[in-house]
Amino acid sequence: MRSFSYVDAYSVEEAVSALGRFGAKARINAGGTDLMGLLKDEYLPTYPEVLVNVKNIPGLDSVSEEGELLRIGALARLSELGRSPLLLERYPALAEAAYAVASPQIRNVATLAGNLCQDVRCAYYRYPAQVGGAIGCARKHNGPCLAVKGDNRYHAIMGGRKCFAVCPSDTAVALAAFDASLTVIGPHGEHSIPIADFYTPLAHRLKHGELVIRIEVPAVSLPHQRFFKFALRRPIDFAIVSVAVVASVEDGVCSDVRIALGAIAPGPVRATEAEEFLRGKPINDETASAASELALGGVKPLGRNGYKVAIAKSLVKRGLLGEGGNLLKE
Ligand SMILES: Cc1cc2nc3c(=O)[nH]c(=O)nc-3n(C[C@H](O)[C@H](O)[C@H](O)COP(=O)(O)OP(=O)(O)OC[C@H]3O[C@@H](n4cnc5c(N)ncnc54)[C@H](O)[C@@H]3O)c2cc1C
Ligand code: SF4
Repeated sequence: MRSFSYVDAYSVEEAVSALGRFGAKARINAGGTDLMGLLKDEYLPTYPEVLVNVKNIPGLDSVSEEGELLRIGALARLSELGRSPLLLERYPALAEAAYAVASPQIRNVATLAGNLCQDVRCAYYRYPAQVGGAIGCARKHNGPCLAVKGDNRYHAIMGGRKCFAVCPSDTAVALAAFDASLTVIGPHGEHSIPIADFYTPLAHRLKHGELVIRIEVPAVSLPHQRFFKFALRRPIDFAIVSVAVVASVEDGVCSDVRIALGAIAPGPVRATEAEEFLRGKPINDETASAASELALGGVKPLGRNGYKVAIAKSLVKRGLLGEGGNLLKE
């Protein structure tokens, strides 16, 4: 691993000041579970020279409902979110998504903002420098995308342009179903980015010097909530496809529904046509099947990842019908 300097920030102002001072050489370190892999494997063309540790900033790990908003501090640990009484009661799909991440050890140190800002898992991109040299590609701005003609089993089936890596974050999927936004602070003050706009095919939208300080979720009363994740290895693995369904059903009729899909595109995808179709209808086998077809309507699989379409349809249907396992109760 290359050497780096380490700066402890004890307030948001200190973190912003340190990030401003070191510019593109600096990188925020939260739980470090993703960042340390990058530093060890040296897969990027350039490396952070300064890590700005934000874990000592007080007050950035709280979870509270204030008026019409659920506010989650950027440093809230995934393990805390998975067992938060407030989330379990009012936002169980988010608690499920946090609980679905990695292993207990990783969830104990990984933060929500780190989970949302983690780097992609494409095997070409992450190929370690120590094993024959890092591989160049479009995301690194030093070559073409190798996944297009290569092994693209785990890549995007929609929304990819130049890069076809998928957003690996489980929590992003549930947050997309809740219309969440990220509150970001930087040298020019504070602003908010809807999660739907946060991911682009080549990166996320944070600029150098910016720090996520919290995630805001409009308070909802949508009691039917499900998060499902299909992965190859059950105990610890990234999603092949994941789905969050959040709905309200009154007298057997769907009054509101949000469906978000993960691991199929550069960011979480809302199935808006399917949502529109379901409003005012009963949710049954027939409408859930039709909605799952609509949800996957615009997909363009690559050569080896067409299998994801069938899995995604099945997860949407199960999420709507409330079928299948609930991770937190198993
Ligand atoms: C073995 C393994 C299995 C995994 N499985 C899953 C999985 O199933 N599902 C899943 O979703 N994830 C999975 N992950 C990824 C894991 O969830 C992330 O590594 C973790 O959530 C990152 O959080 P962190 O606090 O450790 O972030 P760090 O590693 O500290 O940071 C990650 C990135 O986010 C940036 N960052 C951190 N905090 C902020 C902030 N406040 N503002 C702006 N930028 C910030 C950092 O600069 C860095 O670029 C897995 C990781 C491992 C190692
Ligand atoms: S999918 Fe993206 S990260 Fe992977 S090789 Fe292509 S450009 Fe690089």
